[in-house]
Amino acid sequence: MVLDNLGSSLRGSLDKLQGKSRLDEDDVEEIVREIQRSLLSADVDVNLVMDLSSSIKERALNEEPPGGTSARDHVLKIVYEELVGLIGESTDIPLEPQTILLAGLQGSGKTTTAAKMAWWFSTKGLRAAVIQTDTFRPGAYDQAKQMCERAEVEFYGDPDEEDPVKIARDGLEATEDADIHIVDTAGRHALEDALIDEIEDIDSAVNPDRSLLVLDAAIGQGAKDQARQFDDSIGIDGVAITKLDGTAKGGGALTAVNETDSSIGFLGTGETVQDIERFEPNGFISRLLG
Ligand code: GDP
Repeated sequence: MVLDNLGSSLRGSLDKLQGKSRLDEDDVEEIVREIQRSLLSADVDVNLVMDLSSSIKERALNEEPPGGTSARDHVLKIVYEELVGLIGESTDIPLEPQTILLAGLQGSGKTTTAAKMAWWFSTKGLRAAVIQTDTFRPGAYDQAKQMCERAEVEFYGDPDEEDPVKIARDGLEATEDADIHIVDTAGRHALEDALIDEIEDIDSAVNPDRSLLVLDAAIGQGAKDQARQFDDSIGIDGVAITKLDGTAKGGGALTAVNETDSSIGFLGTGETVQDIERFEPNGFISRLLG
C-alpha cells in the first residue's frame, strides 16, 4: 500500500473498513476526523486541513472504487493523492553546475543545511563550495568552516569583512572552479527590514539558479509570514526542512509550500553533515499522518 507507519487511530478507523466495498458517510466522517487530528498536531495550517478534508470527503463519497479495490484501499489512495497534490513532488534540483541561495531566520538551520547540501552534491560527483555571507551571527563563520572541513567541501568566508554582498561576490570568484555554489545568508530572530534588504542585495549580486527557504520542522503558524516575505523579496523555489530527527513533524512546510507555490527539496535529520535526505512524498506524508 502507498502509506506505511500510519498513526494507530487512523489505522484503526481504516481497518474498520476491512471487507467493505462501499463507504458510507459515517465511515468517511470518522476517517476525515482522524486525519484532521493528525495534521493539526503536525502543525499543518488549519485552512489547509479544512480544504483537504472537504476534497477527501467529496472524492471518497462520490468516486467509485475501481474494480477489485476495497473501500479501505480506495480511501487511503484518495488521502495520499490529495496530500501529494498539496505537497507535490520533490523540488527539481538537477545534478549540474548551479548557484543556490539559502534564506531563513536565525537558528532555522541554514548554515548546517549549506554544508550538508554541499556534502550531498559531492556524493553525486559534483564539486561543491559553501560561501558564508552571515556576518551577523557570531560564530557563523567558524561553524560553517568546520562543517565544510568535515564534509570535505570547499569553503569561502571572510571574518574581517562586514559587507555580506562583497563576501558573496568575492566568494563566487574565489570558488569559481566549483560546480555547485551554496550561498549561506544571515538570518535574524524575526522578519526585519534589515534582513530582507540584505538578502535582496545578495540575491542581486549572486543571481542564484534557485533559492531555498530553510525552515525548522517545529515552525507552526509562523511559516506563512516567512514564506510570503522571502518569496516576495527573492522568490522561493523550494523548502528545506530541518530537525526532522526531533519530535516535530514539519507540517509548517506545507504552509510554506502552499504560500510560495513551490515544493520541498531537502530534509535535515540530524546535526552532522551526512544527515540530509532528498524529500520524498511518501515517507513525509506517512510521518504527517503518523
Ligand atoms: P542558522 O542560524 O540558520 O544558520 O542555523 P544553524 O545551522 O546554526 O542551526 C541552528 C542549530 O540547529 C544548530 O545547533 C544546529 O546544529 C541545529 N540543527 C540544524 N539542522 C539540524 C537537524 O536537522 N537536526 C538537528 N537535531 N539539529 C539541527
